[in-house]
Amino acid sequence: MLLFLTVFVASYLYHGLGITVGYHRILAHRALRVPRWLEYFIVSGGYLCFEGSPIAWVATHRVHHKSTDKPGDPHSPIDGFWHSFAGWLFAPEYKTPKEQFPVVVPDLLRDPVYRLLDPSNPKTQWLICLANCIVFRLAILLLLGPAALLANVLAAGTIFIAAFLVNSVCHLPAHGYRNFETADQSRNVWWVGLLACGEGWHNNHHALPQSARHGLSWREPDISWYAIVLMKALGLAKDIRLPAKKKAEFALAQKADGGMAHAAETVAALEKLADLDPRLTPDAV
Ligand SMILES: [Zn+2]
Ligand SMILES: [Zn+2]
Repeated sequence: MLLFLTVFVASYLYHGLGITVGYHRILAHRALRVPRWLEYFIVSGGYLCFEGSPIAWVATHRVHHKSTDKPGDPHSPIDGFWHSFAGWLFAPEYKTPKEQFPVVVPDLLRDPVYRLLDPSNPKTQWLICLANCIVFRLAILLLLGPAALLANVLAAGTIFIAAFLVNSVCHLPAHGYRNFETADQSRNVWWVGLLACGEGWHNNHHALPQSARHGLSWREPDISWYAIVLMKALGLAKDIRLPAKKKAEFALAQKADGGMAHAAETVAALEKLADLDPRLTPDAV
């Protein structure tokens, strides 16, 4: 039982942070920098959770931010809940064409490892990812046994679904609340925040997309942010981007339904962050 729990927690963090810190905050938004070897290790957690090519993932996500909940958004619930949850994956017309990659993801195309994981045929890309995911789990089975394999599969499966919930539930007006009056439907949903390692504070994220921190107060726990703070303490993370306080205050002052109760403490938390370490002085976002 101890082995099962240990592998479950370790797998949840490895795969969860692989998607949230690796694919999302480091690659898609360049919200922080880590040494290249560590970046590859973190991103491998997302890749081995069947997220596919980092180049294609980041391209989809950057287009999502550009056209959120408007025509052109790859996975918005305005096209139906199932579409935003997983249906978009099977709809080629919602995929970002490879011809646009040099414009959308020029930074990732310069990296030989990410290029290697993104062969020209999308089906080949998924087959290579699937093969790597299977080999990884065979290694767990051989080294640690069937209980460890089950723990890893359950953890990876949960975090895989949690990523879909961010795209769908966190854009549904019926759920959660908004801190910021953004031009899209994004919401902060607490249970997605917990399941998806802090990514459920999605309205905060759409308002301040380049911020490395998504949960902005103690009411909005953000495991990915805590991991970034730990990496910074170990001297492994730098150029951490945080929301400019003035912009956050301005956006909070304009926000609509339900979020006003948290406004004062969110601003206070931002002030504390700036005091905490002058090297964290926020970039403009
Ligand atoms: Zn979104
Ligand atoms: Zn994002």
